[in-house]
Amino acid sequence: MSTRKKPKKLYKIQSSDIHKRGVFSTAFIPKGTKILEYVGEKITKAESDRRALEREEKGRKNGSGLVYIFELNQRYDIDGNVSYNHAKYINHSCEPNAEAECIRGHIWIIATRDIEPGEELSYDYGYDMDEFLDHPCLCGSDSCIGYIVRKDLRWRVKKFLKKKEDAKKKEEAAAKPKETPQEEVVAEPEAALA
Ligand SMILES: [Zn+2]
Repeated sequence: MSTRKKPKKLYKIQSSDIHKRGVFSTAFIPKGTKILEYVGEKITKAESDRRALEREEKGRKNGSGLVYIFELNQRYDIDGNVSYNHAKYINHSCEPNAEAECIRGHIWIIATRDIEPGEELSYDYGYDMDEFLDHPCLCGSDSCIGYIVRKDLRWRVKKFLKKKEDAKKKEEAAAKPKETPQEEVVAEPEAALA
């Protein structure tokens, strides 16, 4: 009878407190909803490795270390660094409300809980611990560890940071009782000679 209604877009891109731009819900999104697809250029693993290396190097020079490459299957990856890929603006969070899942050759961003209108969408970027100190996290969630590292490795990051903190405290404590002048020790054998 009537033309089918175009499905309402569930998100918009706007500036984010976490990092530059982010993706925000524009409606109530029930848990399990496919919110948007992570789209991009389909590339082979070899090409993917080449681009990742190239961008890492560039990132080291100008500080923009984002790679945007997603694993599609054993042979292909998706390079999401294209203007039509809105999902590339989704930020990482230590307490995300969505996840990226590969379904029949498509990568979907799916709500992992009910999302209220206006919430920023986020997922776990899944980074390992390689140079994690270069990837600070500003997600602001209660469980934020301060760095973008995937969930199952965060205990190791915490351990590492605690060790670092303890070492710093020890160093500070060791640096304190400096007052004892060294001359006293040197003076002793001289006194014995005389
Ligand atoms: Zn965080």
